[in-house]
Amino acid sequence: MGRSVLVTGGNRGIGLAIARSFAEQGDSVAITHRGSGAPEGLFGVECDVTDTAAVDRAFTEVEERQGPVEVLVSNAGITRDGLLLRMGEDAFTDVVDANLTAAYRVAKRAASKMVRARTGRMVFISSVVGLSGSAGQVNYAASKAGLVGLARSIARELGSRNITANVVAPGFVATDMTAELPEARQQEILGQVPLGRLAEADEIAGVVRFLASDAAGYITGAVVPVDGGLGMGH
Ligand code: NDP
Repeated sequence: MGRSVLVTGGNRGIGLAIARSFAEQGDSVAITHRGSGAPEGLFGVECDVTDTAAVDRAFTEVEERQGPVEVLVSNAGITRDGLLLRMGEDAFTDVVDANLTAAYRVAKRAASKMVRARTGRMVFISSVVGLSGSAGQVNYAASKAGLVGLARSIARELGSRNITANVVAPGFVATDMTAELPEARQQEILGQVPLGRLAEADEIAGVVRFLASDAAGYITGAVVPVDGGLGMGH
């Protein structure tokens, strides 16, 4: 029957590729969306990850439908770029809320059931820029760097319960998020990527699926770059 998987922001982009990848191998997959509905074949729950009560409701719905979440993929995220001197405080706190505090919210809600089951997998989608920094992204880079400390602390707290927590750090992936970048910026980024191309969302999904698989049972607290060599392993 497969495992009970939840992917936040699984209605499009990288999250959708991750959700489909788990569904293909027979897992029961739920995704969160913010009103767009679920793509065909996936169970959708409406949830804004900045709202703790909505997160709790979404987990309850998923648990009723497919059992307690055994694999959590915290993927939902936003950007609100701007240079430090021009960035308003709300642009900073909103991005940290959606990208980092939300990861805490979903991890905490998932953890209670995982601890009881004495098994669980958590994967957090960070970014190469969380480790390298990025001009114009102090908010986003800080939120993505924060996920590393979050995951590694969970790895230490819950390792004895057979719960792993890992981070995937994608480089530039062809999705709506990167399509927003000006053409000149895209070319500049590509010039720094040894593989000379953007990643496909499926290439991120494959690594997430591996980290949730039996083959990765002894990997926890890791940061796995999937960036075409952009960060050179950091
Ligand atoms: P997209 O912009 O294509 O999709 C973002 C997803 O996050 C959507 O499903 C969106 O839902 C959801 N989301 C955003 N805010 C919230 C919220 N408050 N509550 C619930 N869901 C929310 O992004 P990508 O697929 O490109 O990115 C996915 C993840 O990968 C993000 O964390 C991103 O930071 C990270 N990443 C992306 C890279 C890239 O090059 N694309 C590189 C490195 C990391 P909705 O449809 O409702 O807006």
